[in-house]
Amino acid sequence: MANLTEISWKEFSSLSLEGKRPYLMQSAEDPMPYHTLFAQQFDRALLDRLCALSNRIRFINKSKEGALYLKNVLAHKRAMLYFSQPSSRTFLSHLAACQILGITTGSVRDAATASEFKGESREDSIRTFSSYFDMIIMRSPEQGLAEKMSWELSNSSRPIPILNAGSGKDQHPTQALLDIYTLVRSFEEKGGLDGRVVTFCGDLLRGRTVRSLSYLLTNFKDVKQIFVAPKELQVSDDVKSFLDAKGVKYELSDDLKAASSVSDAVYMTRIQDEWDTNKGESAKIDTSRFKFGAEELALLGKDAVIMHPLPRRDEIATCCDHDPRAMYWRQMRNGMWIRAALIAATFGHERTIMECGY
Ligand code: ASP
Repeated sequence: MANLTEISWKEFSSLSLEGKRPYLMQSAEDPMPYHTLFAQQFDRALLDRLCALSNRIRFINKSKEGALYLKNVLAHKRAMLYFSQPSSRTFLSHLAACQILGITTGSVRDAATASEFKGESREDSIRTFSSYFDMIIMRSPEQGLAEKMSWELSNSSRPIPILNAGSGKDQHPTQALLDIYTLVRSFEEKGGLDGRVVTFCGDLLRGRTVRSLSYLLTNFKDVKQIFVAPKELQVSDDVKSFLDAKGVKYELSDDLKAASSVSDAVYMTRIQDEWDTNKGESAKIDTSRFKFGAEELALLGKDAVIMHPLPRRDEIATCCDHDPRAMYWRQMRNGMWIRAALIAATFGHERTIMECGY
């Protein structure tokens, strides 16, 4: 089994994602992630296992006895939530996931309150956290930081797992997991997710959730992806090349109405203007045709779903909120369960929970 202690940072960082994958898993026999950094770490078998574990945890948690059992599973572990970029849902849902499993947590949400403010490097801060905690759940505006820290920690005297909760414009693997879990649940009694059409709309260039979900969807058979965006914010070449290499069908479009009428899922995203190189440049783009409202809702199939990683601005009109096809509220709750499943599995407790008597 490949191990991060056997490879230099220089060699590791120059590998393709496919090449990096084996270094991040628990063992060759069990390819469950140790460090969770990007969506390409998950294949269909792993996704199926994590969805099953999420269902199991949510079922066990329904009774007081079951909830107390779960609270004992990782009661001896501590996790650090290190979020140096704004977050509400991702922070709270990881926190709630830790609470379900009995994990004690600590957090830093603002680098200004940490020693980084005194000039400490992020690398040193994270090393410090590893002295007190057993896992780091981190969000950073810096694209490769979680990866670098995984290598650093694996090569330190206290190797602990890192879970990427959003890295720059690049990836948001646990959001993609909850999106897949939501899609799987939405279609489980309607023939499944294979063969479906999924439309992404909005800022597809800078939306990390789009990149991660687009990759994860390639694990399902014959799922077609439609990318609807103004040309300035259309999906990037790395995603298109990945889909080409996988032989996945996709289409670029600027017509949300047409896409809505043929889609099983419409995944809306907000304009990610915090990444503007020149302040205000996103505001100059005409995004008026990339909003989901009453007209798009009327065109959507009766079994289709509307999704959004949230936060929302005006990309989905509030008139859609009470429609049974609006999945964005349920997505949030699903996130808590699948994050609990991922954390439990990272600590090697998948079988314990799957096979417990509850
Ligand atoms: N919450 C998601 C993220 O962290 C989506 C967004 O911010 O628009 O990427």
